[in-house]
Amino acid sequence: MDPRVQDALLTLPGSPGALVAWQKSLVAVAHQQQVFVWDRRGRQVDVIALSGTCNGLCWDEEGDLLAASCERSARVVLWETQTRRPQPIVSGLGEGVSWLGWGPNAILALATAKGNLVLYDHRSGRRMPVLGKHSRQIVSGAWSKAGLLALAAEDKSLSVSTPDGDTLRVVALRAEPSQIKFGRVKTEDKPHGDDTVSVVVGKKTLYMLRVSEGDEPVELAFQPRYGQVAAYEWFGDGYILLGFTAGFLVAVSTHPKEIGHELFQLQPHPSGLKHMAIAADADLAATAGADGQIKLHSLTAGETKRVLNAPGATNLTWSSDGQLISASCTAGIAVFLACLPTVAAADSSRAAILTSLSEVSVTEPNFQEPLSSVRLVVEPSWVAVGPAHVAAGMNNRAWFHRLSLSAEEVATKEYLSRVSCLKLNSRVAAALCAGRVHVHTIEDVAAEAVVPEDESDGRVTAHEITNEALVYGTDVGVLAIFHLQQWRLVQRYRHSCALKIVSTEASGSRVAFLDDHHQVFIFCPLTESVIAVDASPSTEGILWDSWPGEAAFLVTFDSQQASGHVFLRDSVRGSYAEAVASPTKLPNGQRPLWLAGGEMGLHGPDGRLNRIMLEGHAAVLRLPDSLDALLSLRRYKEAWSAAVERPQLKKLAEAALYDMEFEVALRAFRRLKDAGMVRAVEAAAEAEDRFESAGMAALCLGQYDIAEHAFLQSDRPSAALEMRSSLLEWPRALELAASLAPDQVPLLAKQFAQQLEFTGEHAQALAQYERASGQVDCRAGLARCALRCGDVRRGLSLLDETASVDLLRECATILESGRHLPEAASLAERAGLYERAAELHVRLKNWPKVAQLLPRVTAPRVHAQFAKAKEAEGRYAEAVAAYVTAGDPEAAVRLLLEKLRRPEEAVKIVKETRNPEAAKQVARFLRSAGDATSALQLLVWCGCASEAFEFARQAGEMALLGRLLAAEAASDGAAPIAQLLEVARHFEAEQDAFLAGKFLHLAGESQRAVQLLLKAAAVGHKEALEVAVEAAAAAQHEPHLADQVIQFICGDLDGVPKDFSLVLRLYLTRGQLEEAAQVAVLMAEEEQKAGNYRAAHDTLLTAHQQLRARGGSPPEALRSRLALLHSYILARLHVRRGQHLMAARLLSRVAANISKFPAHAVPILTSAVIECGRAGLASTSFRLASMLMRPMHRPHLDPKYKRKIESVVRKGLRDPEAPEPTSPCPHCLQPLPEYELACSRCKNNLPFCIATGKHVVRDDFTLCPHCEFPAIASGFSELLETENVCPMCGAEVETAALSTLEDLSEYLKV
Ligand SMILES: [Zn+2]
Ligand SMILES: [Zn+2]
Repeated sequence: MDPRVQDALLTLPGSPGALVAWQKSLVAVAHQQQVFVWDRRGRQVDVIALSGTCNGLCWDEEGDLLAASCERSARVVLWETQTRRPQPIVSGLGEGVSWLGWGPNAILALATAKGNLVLYDHRSGRRMPVLGKHSRQIVSGAWSKAGLLALAAEDKSLSVSTPDGDTLRVVALRAEPSQIKFGRVKTEDKPHGDDTVSVVVGKKTLYMLRVSEGDEPVELAFQPRYGQVAAYEWFGDGYILLGFTAGFLVAVSTHPKEIGHELFQLQPHPSGLKHMAIAADADLAATAGADGQIKLHSLTAGETKRVLNAPGATNLTWSSDGQLISASCTAGIAVFLACLPTVAAADSSRAAILTSLSEVSVTEPNFQEPLSSVRLVVEPSWVAVGPAHVAAGMNNRAWFHRLSLSAEEVATKEYLSRVSCLKLNSRVAAALCAGRVHVHTIEDVAAEAVVPEDESDGRVTAHEITNEALVYGTDVGVLAIFHLQQWRLVQRYRHSCALKIVSTEASGSRVAFLDDHHQVFIFCPLTESVIAVDASPSTEGILWDSWPGEAAFLVTFDSQQASGHVFLRDSVRGSYAEAVASPTKLPNGQRPLWLAGGEMGLHGPDGRLNRIMLEGHAAVLRLPDSLDALLSLRRYKEAWSAAVERPQLKKLAEAALYDMEFEVALRAFRRLKDAGMVRAVEAAAEAEDRFESAGMAALCLGQYDIAEHAFLQSDRPSAALEMRSSLLEWPRALELAASLAPDQVPLLAKQFAQQLEFTGEHAQALAQYERASGQVDCRAGLARCALRCGDVRRGLSLLDETASVDLLRECATILESGRHLPEAASLAERAGLYERAAELHVRLKNWPKVAQLLPRVTAPRVHAQFAKAKEAEGRYAEAVAAYVTAGDPEAAVRLLLEKLRRPEEAVKIVKETRNPEAAKQVARFLRSAGDATSALQLLVWCGCASEAFEFARQAGEMALLGRLLAAEAASDGAAPIAQLLEVARHFEAEQDAFLAGKFLHLAGESQRAVQLLLKAAAVGHKEALEVAVEAAAAAQHEPHLADQVIQFICGDLDGVPKDFSLVLRLYLTRGQLEEAAQVAVLMAEEEQKAGNYRAAHDTLLTAHQQLRARGGSPPEALRSRLALLHSYILARLHVRRGQHLMAARLLSRVAANISKFPAHAVPILTSAVIECGRAGLASTSFRLASMLMRPMHRPHLDPKYKRKIESVVRKGLRDPEAPEPTSPCPHCLQPLPEYELACSRCKNNLPFCIATGKHVVRDDFTLCPHCEFPAIASGFSELLETENVCPMCGAEVETAALSTLEDLSEYLKV
């Protein structure tokens, strides 16, 4: 608690309950039929004598007039401050004045004990009596600011009158009224004045009546425990504070929605409350308690702030400025200093503050003790502090003290008029007196000036001083800089309206000012530029931060809050100011005095200096790494340390770039490894022109409008054009080019036109192309857009000379989409788009043209369209041709059959195209014409499976279908399996096992096929067995099928052996060569037994050839049997040819194996005997004849030869026959008997000659060109002279076809 205000400042004589009236600096106290007037320092000013005990004491609004009345007297004394002389006046009614009060315009209301009223106009001296206002004594009254007069009387009524005394309202009350007042009800209406009368009724309730609106009155009752209403007052925005006798202090609202709602409630004096009074400007309420204490409470906070000891205190009265409060106490009238006048000043963070009514202390934040403390002879109305001095003053006087502990006075100064504000630098003082600034040196009289010199510059409203200059603003908007070295005005800027506040940055390089329109600006003397600051319209003050930070910083403030703004001189968009963080709320009644590093020094009515941090700076203190907070303050150095992550670096880089802090931006972009940006920012930083530099930086940021603005101000405005061009922003680029580079307009127009054309804005594109005429490609664009816009004639004329196929094509498409088909067709043809042209002509039904184009058209649809057209015209032949070309054989066939009746051509088309639908048509036609085979054939060919099947079924031509399918399968290599199976199923259903089996076999269903075929074969179907063999042979992987078939053929199933040649075929087909050879030999044996030597020979020959053909080697059994059978056949041939020797040799070979010819043993032997006889082989003949004589043959001898044989035997072995001639072994060349087939030397079996039966020889070797059996060439040739067929294979052989061979080895292997 501050000891300076603890005790009473003064104690004035006065009895308890004495009336006290304050103005600002004087207090009137009624005491013993006198009124004493005192000043604030307790000096008596005057004494006014009264005729009785004072019952009314009142100062007028200005504090110039004091009125005093006394009991039971009609006389009132007026006392003027100026003259200090009492002046008696009389009410004129002869009744005692019971209440008096000053209203507006020096009207004094005098109310009487009988309820009458007199209005006294002090200016004119006129009195106006108003009789019968009330019927009894008027006890209380009040004036509203608008001049309404409310009176309350003992007649329990309340009246409201106009300033002229006319009654507006009279209201009857329940009980006796007291303490009538005017107040302003809190409403949501438009602002209104204090038009509500309030009065305490019966000491308990508060009655309220809003006069102007004619509202119903409201009466507030309070809790009984509060006791009676001791005192009440209106305050703030429609609130009422009431003091109750039970010691309570209660604040209530008058807002209709919350009427009677208690804002706060205190009980500061539990032993009882005697009085209460409010000093609204000081935010204070004072209560006097039965406890002998006065307590001071904050109205807004609703809490007690101070306690003063004042025994017996009551009747509290505030001085009009709220600094002093008086109370009637036991000891007299005690005056307390409730709060100090807010007289303070600062320089940087050095503050000069009034610490008592006549003492100034100078403090600095870093020092505990005051730098200086000055005792003054007066209570100053202002103070000032500079680097070396502190000054204080009142009226037109100023005292200057040095800033030191001793604080010696160095000068006093008397100005020509009252000083309202004074500023200091280290050597000069500048005092604002009556609209002009007196500037002079402090400690000597070296220089003195009064500015402005020119009256047209208006009256100075605010000024500021720096080390170099005095800066002032005037009420006509002049902002001037007076240089203190040069001692003259150096700069003068004219603003649009009056200036109210001027604040200069310490260096003087920036001046902020508040104008009459509540707007704040920053003026830069260097560039003479003015930058608007987005400050609140309620701004009352501006402070620059005195801390030398990176960026200039200032706050604008009003009574509630302070807002920080950062000011950037250089950025891509030039200088600008930006609000930082949200506004900082100011403690109640406290006003910023200085600002340093975001910390504000605040000074309030409690006389103390408080310090708070602005929001933006507090955020940095709370979170030192918060990039956003640092960037908002433009603290790039700290921000660099805080930016760690990529997004942070990017943000930092961009913010720095925006503010043209190139070094920081470059560092950040380098760390981001953004080479492109690094290069671009380097270039921007190196640009010599500041605007160009800004433009380039803005471009980097993508802020194109800003960039353009900067470029246009730079030395190279064409950069703006380049930028817009590169952004493809053609309209803007063209605008720029029109002034900056007219020669570029055509090229830009062309580019714009191309863009417009691309986006389909053809009319505009056309206009731009026209602007661009002369540019390359423009003619094409013009042509396209003209065509797009429907100007076909112009478009086509532009195309007259073009050779560009692409352009022609494009334009043809455009024309087509615009439905200009003839022109489109013509262009398409010019562009070589014959197909397109033809199609267009088709759409135009221009058939001659179509026909002309058709040879160059391949697209089927064109031909098809043409064909349709021709068909419609009835020109069927042409239509058919076109349909064929169009790949629509169906239509072609339809016409051929229905219109032209040329089925053979239709068949031809179907055969060529294999088109199923066409095939069906033709098939129907053929069928109706009775040619089922051809019809079916076509269907099969064209793969019309189901149609073919259905047709075959209906026509009973299923077998035919089967054959056709089989043929198809054979020709294609791929069987139409499904159809074959279907056909097979059909026959199976028909119980035709053979055909079913056959088609199953063709469809590859071997097992089932074999089953069915064997079933058919079992009932004697020969072909079935053959097919079964085929099927079994084909089923390579199902050997059991072959076994089944073989078993069947061998009769294993029915005991009836079938044709073995089939078995042979099966073995051969399946590649079972050994088995095949065995079967062949067996078969030949059977044939031989039966005497069918030719058949046996042929069986063996076939087997031999097939084995050879399959790479097999015919076994010896086969070969030797073939040789034997061939010898027999050859023997008969040579017998016929009369070659008896050869026949004899061959027959004797046969005879040696006569057991193998059981059917003809005797005839053969007989022939052999005869032939040997003829050939002169007597001994052989004898030997053979002897054989015939054996009992097994003799009975069978042909009687014809019986004698002959017997004679041979009888003659005996008489003539030895000549030895058999020899020829060399073809292997080892050993001479061997000609007919010997095994070499005695090399043991080889020797091949026999098919013509002679001898063994072959090397030197005379040949082959049958057909069967490739070897022969003795000369012997074969000789044979062919008569026979001309090969005796082995029966094929015709020309002698000339016989060749001799060198290498016989192949043919000697037997
Ligand atoms: Zn040999
Ligand atoms: Zn032959």
